[in-house]
Amino acid sequence: MDKIWSSDDILESGLLHRSLKVAPYMAKNASGSYIYLQDGTEILDGCGGAAVISVGHSNPEVIEAVTEQLKTITYVHTAEYTTAVSEELANLLLESYKGKVAKVYFVNSGSEANEAAIKMSLQYFYEQGKTEKTHFISRKQSYHGNCLGGMSLSGHVVRREPFEGIISSNFHQVSPANEYRFKNSGESTADYVKRLASELEEEILKIGPEKVACFFAETIVGATTACLPAPEGYFKAIQAVCQKYDVLLALDEIMCGSGRTGTFFAWEAEGIVPDITTAGKALSGGYSPLSAVFLAQKFVDVLGAGSNSFNCGHTYQSFALSSAAGLSVQKIIRRDGFLQNVVEMGKYLEYSLKQALSSSKVVGNIRGRGLFWGIEFVSSRATKHPIGATIHFGYMVQRAIFEEGVAVYPGFGTVDGHSGDHILIAPPFNVTKQQIDRIVAATSKGISKIESSLF
Ligand code: PLP
Repeated sequence: MDKIWSSDDILESGLLHRSLKVAPYMAKNASGSYIYLQDGTEILDGCGGAAVISVGHSNPEVIEAVTEQLKTITYVHTAEYTTAVSEELANLLLESYKGKVAKVYFVNSGSEANEAAIKMSLQYFYEQGKTEKTHFISRKQSYHGNCLGGMSLSGHVVRREPFEGIISSNFHQVSPANEYRFKNSGESTADYVKRLASELEEEILKIGPEKVACFFAETIVGATTACLPAPEGYFKAIQAVCQKYDVLLALDEIMCGSGRTGTFFAWEAEGIVPDITTAGKALSGGYSPLSAVFLAQKFVDVLGAGSNSFNCGHTYQSFALSSAAGLSVQKIIRRDGFLQNVVEMGKYLEYSLKQALSSSKVVGNIRGRGLFWGIEFVSSRATKHPIGATIHFGYMVQRAIFEEGVAVYPGFGTVDGHSGDHILIAPPFNVTKQQIDRIVAATSKGISKIESSLF
């Protein structure tokens, strides 16, 4: 495999999901950290698709748990029933967070979880008679899902562009928290954070605090900005503003959560507890669709004194088969010390990437936490200029790395002085040192191949 993909090839194969013209690779089977194609090619899965795979592919224990669940009970409607497996999963997830998180609600995808979070925010205020609180603030260069609520929150221009016509004016956006791109020269991190918190406060005041329901952000930004953690103190400052104006804080951890950064919630490293957290992907690790909405006690109190139920029901919510997959995955992560491996291998991945790519002229920034790392490409390290929207550099690099037998996740942001092209690396939580060496070697080789073919 030594084809170098051109920009035209990339466009032909489709920038977002399935291309109408180019057939995707046929994946035949997968095991541990590897995917095998129909022709026998072995691919080391360095990104778990879109950061989904947590305990590896085809884990026999998870397969057994899901198979047993199939034989026992798969479906009941949650208006009338629950199942032992869904209750056990909820208790397992909540037990370490007593006093911080009171309830969890299971749905099927990240998009559904964020829709539920939007609706829960609205219902929370509606039941208090604060019916004007129907506005949301999120950040530019964010992604919160494919359905219309999440899409309305999302700041990624290309992903929302075709649907802009029906996005409600109740959705507002403030600046992203991106020190690499937007901290002014000479500005301290503390002053940058203050500036961002003031911008949020001004936006709330402009809309009217009595109208703002919720501020929504990814704790560590994933697909749109490549594993970007917030500057130190950002979430504390943002939460203080939210609390001042009775605005809820919802953190989207669909991609960065469920252990990916070394703690179950990525916000544990930020010294705050949000009102709402959404999680998905690594939660059930690719075995059955599962996402979750975690809620603070205040929702139980308000709804408990009012309607007594959440006005949001999906046919397949709390799906027993998905709960069985999630329960098995989460038990393995806890029992086998996978989060410790995420921390240790994360440090090794960071060190190895920084060593291997230190002399690359197109690598502008390497950032992340745990096993969630992003590489942002630039045409000049000094000016930080993006490479250019029409070149699709991130995709070309991703294809070149794939030719080396390693899968990473490509992405692109807005290019007008913003994030530009990048790739994400997010291997399974039980990745080994040798596998990281292979991921880093292929990444380095792929980047230099494209760099030398273009410059
Ligand atoms: N939120 C974030 C931060 C995501 O990364 C994603 C998916 O990539 C979603 C929401 C939507 O999740 P799903 O694709 O499972 O609907």
